[in-house]
Amino acid sequence: MEKFQGKAIFRGIAIGKILFHEKAAQPVKRSGVEDTKAEWERYEKARDQAIEELHELYEKAVKEVGEVNAQIFEVHAMMLEDDDYNDSVRNIIENQKLNAAYATATTGDNFAEIFANMDDEYFRARSVDVKDISERVIHILNGGKAPRQLTEPAIIVAEDLAPSETVQMDKDKLLAFVTKLGSSNSHTAILARNMNIPALINIDIQESWNGKMAIVDGMESCLIVDPDEETLALYKRKLQEEEEKQKLLQELKGKETVTKSGKKIKLYANIGKASDVASVLGNDAGGIGLFRSEFLYLDSDTYPTEDEQFAAYRQVAEMMGGKKVIIRTLDIGADKQVDYFHLDKEENPAMGYRAIRICLDRKDIFKTQLRAIFRASAYGNISIMYPMIISVNEVRQAKAVAEEVKQELKEAGIQYGEVEQGIMIETPAAAVISDMLAKEVDFFSIGTNDLTQYTLAIDRQNSKLDPIYDSHHEAVLRLIQMTVDNAHKEGIWAGICGELASDTTLTERFVKMGVDELSVSPPLVLRVRKEIRETE
Ligand code: PEP
Ligand code: MG
Repeated sequence: MEKFQGKAIFRGIAIGKILFHEKAAQPVKRSGVEDTKAEWERYEKARDQAIEELHELYEKAVKEVGEVNAQIFEVHAMMLEDDDYNDSVRNIIENQKLNAAYATATTGDNFAEIFANMDDEYFRARSVDVKDISERVIHILNGGKAPRQLTEPAIIVAEDLAPSETVQMDKDKLLAFVTKLGSSNSHTAILARNMNIPALINIDIQESWNGKMAIVDGMESCLIVDPDEETLALYKRKLQEEEEKQKLLQELKGKETVTKSGKKIKLYANIGKASDVASVLGNDAGGIGLFRSEFLYLDSDTYPTEDEQFAAYRQVAEMMGGKKVIIRTLDIGADKQVDYFHLDKEENPAMGYRAIRICLDRKDIFKTQLRAIFRASAYGNISIMYPMIISVNEVRQAKAVAEEVKQELKEAGIQYGEVEQGIMIETPAAAVISDMLAKEVDFFSIGTNDLTQYTLAIDRQNSKLDPIYDSHHEAVLRLIQMTVDNAHKEGIWAGICGELASDTTLTERFVKMGVDELSVSPPLVLRVRKEIRETE
């Protein structure tokens, strides 16, 4: 037995076998299709082949493991014939004009999430099956070259993981991540939290661990390889205790997010794609405080069209049924790189050509996104949020483009709803002039990940500096207080959507500061609700 100390980016315990991660051979890419009829037929053919394979597997399994155990393959075949499942794939291919593999993957993710959040144990267990059948179809669509998939539950050990690799991993089989590189505020770490997966970084990984039994302890920030019987038994008990704590949190579903003295706090969730909405609803968040729209761009190999974006935003707005959905406009750059933007290589990308700077420069891209957002606003309660703001002038320019888009839609007779416009406060400049900015917008949302990076001059991506990347630094907390006070002086609300929002050691302080909203990873919503309800 060997123990290695690292840094936890998500608390929680996992016990399982280690699998060394190799780079994905062929991830499911999102791409546009012109001939949607042909693409649908391609899907139908792949689906029928998958059903046939499943029948064959059933016959084989009956002989090998008996009728009862073989039934699962017949259930899988039936799932592939399900109308709701097929309608969803068809809808994505025909209405969003997207490729069949992507449509199948998205449908699989969505349905799996819905099953995973059901109360009934039997239905919860179907979540894995939906994933399985979707993978089978994708495998056939890819000409037999399946995207890399985990075949059994595993602790993934890797040098490093990119956000795109992380997001494509099969959540049901992924027990934990352990990486050598990475930092606790990278987007990979954020995704791990969104996916509710224990994760450790800064571990000196060894290839010889492949296949060995291990324990990831996110509370003590350590990895135990080849645990002895006694340690294994101890951790199995701890895991059970954790699961019981989680069950208790479920009792907070449907309860108000209110302090003991009666102050109501808006408790929202952060998402990166439409399929995260099931988890937002499953964890009873009051809205979406940050929809990182750039994941639509990251998941694609070409610019997502207005219609594609409209369909995604509309889907989220409709699924949220009137609850607030704050869509942040494109925030690429730094660790979120998109090849087809052909951005120049920069010395200092975090401080470079990114986010609103690109949007105000390449208005065509910006307008396409804003048109999609405004069109979707007719179907729900959508707000827009602009990232990386440093000046009043930028806000005015962004709002002028939004005005232009509204005018065009009006002239074309296209419906749109009431849309509030807010900004991220994630640069020290924005926090310092928040008195001026508050006069221009409807709300502030404080991005503590970047605010910490820029205030402390510490690259959030640099694993070496991770130990001194300190979001509790007095300078950061003072900027938060200043922002909240300036928002209130102008009668607008201020929330936090950076990772600090879910740091329960600060919840009481945020309430005292007057923070109106906290937006956190969906799996952390109930934990934060508990903390707020225990605060004076
Ligand atoms: C932030 O900077 O705190 C934030 C929420 O945005 P992102 O993490 O996507 O940069
Ligand atoms: Mg940011």
